[in-house]
Amino acid sequence: MTSNAVPLAGVLGWPITHSLSPLLHMHWIKALGLKAYYVPLGCAPEDFISSVPALLKAGFRGFNVTIPHKEAAFALADTVTPRAQHIGAVNTLWLEDGMLVGDSTDGDGFLSALPPLEAGSHIVVIGAGGAAKAIVYALAGLETVTHITVANRTIARAEALCAQIRPLFDHTAFDAHGLDGLDHVLSAADVIVNTTALGMKGHPPLTLDLSACTASPIAYDIVYTPPLTPFLREAQANGLTAINGLPMLIGQARPGFEKWYGQAAPHTGEELSLLKRALGQT
Ligand code: NAP
Repeated sequence: MTSNAVPLAGVLGWPITHSLSPLLHMHWIKALGLKAYYVPLGCAPEDFISSVPALLKAGFRGFNVTIPHKEAAFALADTVTPRAQHIGAVNTLWLEDGMLVGDSTDGDGFLSALPPLEAGSHIVVIGAGGAAKAIVYALAGLETVTHITVANRTIARAEALCAQIRPLFDHTAFDAHGLDGLDHVLSAADVIVNTTALGMKGHPPLTLDLSACTASPIAYDIVYTPPLTPFLREAQANGLTAINGLPMLIGQARPGFEKWYGQAAPHTGEELSLLKRALGQT
């Protein structure tokens, strides 16, 4: 450990150049007038295990971890929170009593932008990857959610996700589905969530027929580049309420900030416009 007293944290990923996390954390650091830094840390997969201890030795207090390191970070942590244990991945690491602690805050970030749901809500989650796992776990923890359908291109992964989370929650029914023949499932949904990269810049769009969604459910896309994805545009055209992934990005960042810098991240009211400007949107 060095004598460096300036609090340091950063985001480890590969690639990392497009990460919005440094902009967001530095915005909060400046708003609080802290003498602290948050930096992007490009780290190839083969270097992750050796880089984290070296950075901690150099004075870093912890990290956000993004693609492709979330499972490696889970394995590297000395201890993880119960929810991270269930999810099998972490996106936030911090030092506590000399131990490297890992947590998965994507689910909290996701819930931070979700309006209160009516009792008996049915959620359709598109995708069964890492983000889906954190989101399904968080949704199943809500008393109001009694039914979650996981729909994925590879149905076996949707079935595996349901099988993993089902035993943890008594009040929620889980079922797995493919991406075809979803219309009747979508028409009964209260919230439809896209957790795949479909619709992200450079990826094909997520195309769902939302015309039967007459009960005006919420359409929530965790993708935020662009902020208005083809899925959200289609949702708005059909009278659904659209939420994009930017508030989730902000919400998942808050717990780490407090761990590294010792103060809660402020609510400046400028976070969304800052990130939209960085993405070239107004
Ligand atoms: P992941 O573990 O690689 O999972 C990818 C998922 O997308 C899988 O369900 C996969 O289906 C599906 N998929 C990929 N290409 C597809 C295609 N062409 N057609 C149909 N399905 C396809 O990725 P992840 O970590 O969950 O991340 C997913 C997205 O969430 C990324 O865009 C990421 O940037 C975003 N994200 C946003 C936030 C935020 O704060 N807003 C936080 C975390 C992640 P198969 O199982 O069939 O391969």
